[in-house]
Amino acid sequence: MAGIYIHVPFCASRCIYCDFYTTINLENQNRLVRALCSELDMRRNYLQDNTPPNAPIEIDTIYLGGGTPSQLSEENLHRLFSAIYNKVENDVSFQVSPNAEVTMECNPDDITPQFAQTIAKLPINRVSMGVQTFDDVRLSFLRRRHKSAQITPAVEQLRQVGVNNISIDLIFGFPKQTLDEWAIDLQKAIELDVVHISAYSLMYEEGTPLFKLLQQHRVSEIDESKSLDMFNMLVDTLTANHYEHYEISNFARKGYRSRHNASYWQGIPYLGLGPSAHSYDGNSRQWNISNLKKYMDAIENKTIPMERETLDEDTKYNDWITTALRTKEGLNLTLLSDAHRNYLLQAAQPHINQGNLVLIDNHIALSRAGIFISDSIMSDLIKV
Ligand code: SF4
Repeated sequence: MAGIYIHVPFCASRCIYCDFYTTINLENQNRLVRALCSELDMRRNYLQDNTPPNAPIEIDTIYLGGGTPSQLSEENLHRLFSAIYNKVENDVSFQVSPNAEVTMECNPDDITPQFAQTIAKLPINRVSMGVQTFDDVRLSFLRRRHKSAQITPAVEQLRQVGVNNISIDLIFGFPKQTLDEWAIDLQKAIELDVVHISAYSLMYEEGTPLFKLLQQHRVSEIDESKSLDMFNMLVDTLTANHYEHYEISNFARKGYRSRHNASYWQGIPYLGLGPSAHSYDGNSRQWNISNLKKYMDAIENKTIPMERETLDEDTKYNDWITTALRTKEGLNLTLLSDAHRNYLLQAAQPHINQGNLVLIDNHIALSRAGIFISDSIMSDLIKV
């Protein structure tokens, strides 16, 4: 089992907080899609692990992320999916499972009735929408293009064409945001009745315009205790409304966990296509160059513009700590070597004693108190 991730780096405008690799120059759309299809052709065997020999690997999840994939034309979306789904003669590299989860990230303002019809003609069965907040002043502070009034119609358009597996992203912890204001955002999210919600505190990533505003003292971060109150409100409100808190930032109705994201946390291999996309084959990680022009030039010259890191046993252990520990089930200790299990149990003991970690049935997981300080717990557990 494996996944495919495709990075579409185009955005109509840049949001103030974003540090993903994107460009607002939308001219090269056709050329990029040609390059993505060529890269797929060149790397068809990347996921082959030869168990059993010569059997195609089953692709269980496909994720179109970015950037803003909903900026792609209908024609280009069809080209991309044809490249993934069309059988190549005598090729046994991979095949897409009939039950694959196929997600596309969309901005609410892109989901017009016509665009929803386009989605309906494609294998897409899940949409992840960057809602962020229902407050127009904050949307404009973030330099998002959509208005709050566009969110509900976007969800309705998707449902009308049969896409009910909808996830939304929310942000909390805006400068000067109050708990009451966050409660209003959460209430509006619940009223949408979507099956999946991801919620993140506003991050001040170096190099972003938001980080610059912070350095210039034109905005200030909310204090830690308010951030903790907001996080607790998030968890209490969503769990009371039948969302399972299954990963630090993710909540799902029964049966609607994100299978693609879960595969990252479970160490399942994935092939990443496009500029800045990462791939993982179980023994190494590789990442494509974060430059659209250099990416397309290299692919047209039949080379993959990437760097690779072979993972030693300590790095694999550290990856388990920073991924599996984010999940409700935590890290399955039987996946570790005796040496790494002993190391982890020793390093974890102070946090177990303090109630930040719990040990149940050979799994070690963050407690509710531990989630809020997960970064510092993970840094205590990794091997340096
Ligand atoms: S739309 Fe998404 S990817 Fe594009 S700039 Fe905004 S946050 Fe970043």
